[in-house]
Amino acid sequence: MKLILLGAPGAGKGTQAEIISETLRIPTISTGNIIREALKSGTELGRKAKGYMDSGQLVPDDIVIGIIRDRLAQPDCADGFILDGFPRTIPQAEALDRMGVAIDRVIEIEVADDTIARRVSGRRICPGCGSSYHVDYKRPTVEGICDRCGDTLVQRQDDRPDTVRERLSVYHEQTEPLKSYYAAAGKLFVVEGQEEIADTSRLVLAALEQ
Ligand code: ADP
Ligand code: ZN
Repeated sequence: MKLILLGAPGAGKGTQAEIISETLRIPTISTGNIIREALKSGTELGRKAKGYMDSGQLVPDDIVIGIIRDRLAQPDCADGFILDGFPRTIPQAEALDRMGVAIDRVIEIEVADDTIARRVSGRRICPGCGSSYHVDYKRPTVEGICDRCGDTLVQRQDDRPDTVRERLSVYHEQTEPLKSYYAAAGKLFVVEGQEEIADTSRLVLAALEQ
């Protein structure tokens, strides 16, 4: 199963990706996590990406396409994968097609903008392993501490309210056109994002079985 998760920032792609990944035993590839990782370890990629990311802009296509090309060549991607946060522009989708990657399904998680703004403000991430949490919807066992690795949770720089507004407008302008792109290919399944994570998961897993 080669799957793309589409949706606005904070729609719950990463959370659903984790659940599908465990259910289907295929890796999740999150360009956001890969870039944050590079930022943290101070690589050249991280240096190039930082300004864009902090201001809520997209990192240039050629950089992100390079990341994905390298990642999909790894052996653990052979039996399938979930793309979370890629493609985010039409040229990225075209590049994926040109790589000869045959996507089976694209699932779009739809959430209204005002709900997004509320959710993102409560999001916390683990700088150690990239896991994400929410102060109301997905609380760690011990407050402020990652269940998986024990690191202290933080709020992402780009989850501050004004940056979130910018990211939403970037989403509507540059990423939303992908819905028509994949609908035209007969691959798009739309899932209405629910209040509860488990309810959205049920809808997502049902869309995978259609
Ligand atoms: P979210 O989970 O809120 O959708 P991500 O963690 O996926 O956010 O991405 C955070 C930031 O990383 C984006 O705002 C952008 O700057 C950069 N980024 C991630 N994926 C891509 C991509 N495919 N193309 C360009 N920039 C990207
Ligand atoms: Zn962790």
